[in-house]
Amino acid sequence: MTRSGADFIAGLRDRRNVFLDGERVEDVTTHPAFAEAVHSVARLYDFAHDPANRELMTYPSERDGRPVNKSWLVPRTREDLAARRRAIKAWADLSYGLMGRSPDHVASFFAGFAGSLPFFARGGQQFADNLARFYAKAADEDLYLSYAIVQPVIDRSKPAHQQAEPYLYAGAAEERDGGIVVRGAQMLATGGVMSDWCYISVILPLQPGDEDYAISLVVPLDAPGLKLYVRRPYARTVSSVFDYPLSSRFDETDALVVLDDVFVPWEHVFVYKNRELCAGQFSVTAAHVIGNTQAHIRSWAKLQFLVGLVRRICEANGQLAKPEVVAQLGDLATRVSLVEGMVLAAEASAAPDEFGVMRPTDAMVYASQVYQQQMYPELLNAIRAMMGGSVIQLPASVADLCSPATRPDLERYVRWPRATAVERIKLLKLLWDLIGSEFAGRHLQYEMFYAGEPNAIKGREYRSFDWAAADALVERCLNSYDLDTVAASTRLPAPQPT
Ligand SMILES: Cc1cc2nc3c(=O)[nH]c(=O)nc-3n(C[C@H](O)[C@H](O)[C@H](O)COP(=O)(O)OP(=O)(O)OC[C@H]3O[C@@H](n4cnc5c(N)ncnc54)[C@H](O)[C@@H]3O)c2cc1C
Repeated sequence: MTRSGADFIAGLRDRRNVFLDGERVEDVTTHPAFAEAVHSVARLYDFAHDPANRELMTYPSERDGRPVNKSWLVPRTREDLAARRRAIKAWADLSYGLMGRSPDHVASFFAGFAGSLPFFARGGQQFADNLARFYAKAADEDLYLSYAIVQPVIDRSKPAHQQAEPYLYAGAAEERDGGIVVRGAQMLATGGVMSDWCYISVILPLQPGDEDYAISLVVPLDAPGLKLYVRRPYARTVSSVFDYPLSSRFDETDALVVLDDVFVPWEHVFVYKNRELCAGQFSVTAAHVIGNTQAHIRSWAKLQFLVGLVRRICEANGQLAKPEVVAQLGDLATRVSLVEGMVLAAEASAAPDEFGVMRPTDAMVYASQVYQQQMYPELLNAIRAMMGGSVIQLPASVADLCSPATRPDLERYVRWPRATAVERIKLLKLLWDLIGSEFAGRHLQYEMFYAGEPNAIKGREYRSFDWAAADALVERCLNSYDLDTVAASTRLPAPQPT
């Protein structure tokens, strides 16, 4: 059943080990580095929990009929995909697409896993049962899962089992009564500090000998031995919400996950020492395309927000009347429409997979991913080119606007034809937080890498593209002429002997 934001926050007050500046964070819900982001996620839960949004955001549980967030819905029809899209978009709009790993992201992966139980049964029926049980619990309890499925960059020239010491990368180090001991590190749990459970696995290819590292499991955030080392948070150092409206409220954080001999009961293990199944989770099952469809819907919201803001700025500075500015805005809007169009195309051409999951078309999802990884940096550059120095010529902080000593000059010299100083500064500080601040820099890195190393995504596109259809066209064309047909043609000149 869906939970309220208050219930979500209460659930985070546990013994989790989040480390910042060399110290354990006592309570992530009140610490200035995380509190605002926690409340931004709480607002998502409140929205889905509101009876007014029940139809949009939930579906009745198969188990007891109570409302479950739609991100857990295993899509069996195209209408299921459309219903998931509407719910995901509504959530993404609430954070302006700035929380990439909101709870619906990993939930979408688990919807794909749960629809593919026979796949997990290939490793033993108990693993499929574990998954089914955990999925039901997570959906019914409306849990927030983060994930760390990439091995940390230590020595990528060597496979996991040949690193400088064993279990630098997270792996199954021992079996004990009732479960396994997991040791090592994994990156990069976005949202980890405010999630309830972390899904640990590996999406990178594993080599023979890497079997210990071929695992797929979940751990609660307060599991003894689980530690999260967060990167520099942005919220606690910004001067005000007015100066940094996004850094202050939507920094979902990213963390290195260290598993210091974490005991994981068997019931939380879904793949155990099986390289083929570990990789297949993200290619044979629909989880990766369903999860990344969520990511693209979120991206679509962010792009809408970004170009909407740029248009608002052009309106305020009086540039909207210029044909060249209209063309530039049309160019920005084209990119948003392409991302939206790819989400809809993958959904409209979806087909049931071997497990009966309605799978968005892989080639569309990965083409969009490749496109977005390249497009986002170009988009930011195009916006910077439109803005010139005005995004820099801004008062150091909102204090300049509040002080009678400085405000008159700002009102006089920092204005636009259609905007007062306060309106202009508000718009431009918001834009800078989206394209130029440290928060924005992290977002740029995120959009370029969140789904994986770009060549790996191109490889997925290569493997899913319909080469047979492309090749059939080439074959038909090649077969439509040869030396004889050219010689026999009455309409074209025959080749002349040389
Ligand atoms: C902000 C952010 C949030 C993230 N959140 C999550 C998360 O929530 N969960 C999660 O599991 N992961 C997350 N990730 C991790 C992400 O999945 C990885 O960063 C991504 O898979 C790329 O892997 P990598 O960082 O090891 O880059 P690398 O694979 O090291 O690639 C870096 C660069 O090196 C190049 N390169 C790599 N190998 C070669 C080679 N052999 N020859 C030539 N060039 C090469 C690549 O093309 C690329 O340009 C996040 C990443 C970022 C940046």
